[in-house]
Amino acid sequence: MLKVYVLSRSFGKFSEKALKLVESVAKIECNLYGRLSEEELLEVIKDVDGIIVGADKIDRKIIENCRKLKIIAKHGVGIDNIDLKAATDNNIVVTSAPHTNAESVADFTIGLILSVARHIPQAHFSTKHGKWEAPRFIGNEVYGKTIGIIGLGEIGYRVARRAMGFSMQILAYDPYISFEKAKETSARVVDLETLLRESDFVTLHVPLTDETRGMIGKKELHLMKKTAYLINMSRGTVVDENSLYDALKEGKITGAAIDVYSREPPSKDFPLFELDNVVVTPHIAAYTREAMSRMDETVAEDIVKFFKGEEPKHIANPEVLKTFRKKAT
Ligand code: NAD
Repeated sequence: MLKVYVLSRSFGKFSEKALKLVESVAKIECNLYGRLSEEELLEVIKDVDGIIVGADKIDRKIIENCRKLKIIAKHGVGIDNIDLKAATDNNIVVTSAPHTNAESVADFTIGLILSVARHIPQAHFSTKHGKWEAPRFIGNEVYGKTIGIIGLGEIGYRVARRAMGFSMQILAYDPYISFEKAKETSARVVDLETLLRESDFVTLHVPLTDETRGMIGKKELHLMKKTAYLINMSRGTVVDENSLYDALKEGKITGAAIDVYSREPPSKDFPLFELDNVVVTPHIAAYTREAMSRMDETVAEDIVKFFKGEEPKHIANPEVLKTFRKKAT
């Protein structure tokens, strides 16, 4: 019988249907003991046919050591933790679950914008500790301000739609976006420099690619208004964290809200943790019951399709299927 190993710690928690779907084509095995070391990972998946991956890094070494592996299903959107080229070279299909968590991430983005502009987490913590420090928490309005959205895809688009409810001016930087899509959000599509110079809130919604890695560094942070905030919802390494620390410490920008880190979890002495003008969360923008269950079912449906010999709906390397077909003929 085929075997699917579940590395994602949340897969199946919110959808019984997803578990049943996968069980209809394969035996499910999983790890109940937290994140595995590379050696442990290699051991547990060495003879499985498929894996369901959350944040674990699936690199070439792992891919080449799993001789029976045929499908890597990402339980999430960004597939930057999977070596796609290595998977393709080894005829392994990679799928993901796009569009499943965009509403949740967009909600959360607005939540973090309000949190950082109004010091909500700090005020909550202080009040719960018996203090009454109202004057400490004078913040800034969000209503009517300018939001700069970097990456106007599924999530960025939904952030823009929500920002319209706050009567915000919307700027977008996305070299790959269609004019029609931008028009639906009343976003003005601009170059990156204009967006950074004019926005009160700069929010990142790009995938991690060679082009976006480090796209916000010292130069970009220094172009921002001193009163502006940076929100990182994409991936940690899209922002140079050392430059962000310096910019916040030196007052080059007013605040930042971060859900993603270059290393997850970050070390306890991660420099940004010591700053009061930073709101941090542990990569939870997509963590809602609704998004999780949509993600579970999307992943499961593609696994079933694949093992039944059909084309998965959300495949990142469809060229692999051509090789399978060539082999079959
Ligand atoms: P998407 O593919 O729909 O949108 C990404 C957009 O970024 C696209 O419109 C694309 O054209 C644009 N883009 C690509 N390269 C760019 C560049 N160099 N400059 C500007 N724009 C560029 O993806 P999505 O569903 O909106 O998700 C975006 C990213 O958000 C994911 O890849 C993932 O890294 C991150 N994400 C984070 C969480 C979280 O929990 N914090 C959850 C989901 C997704």
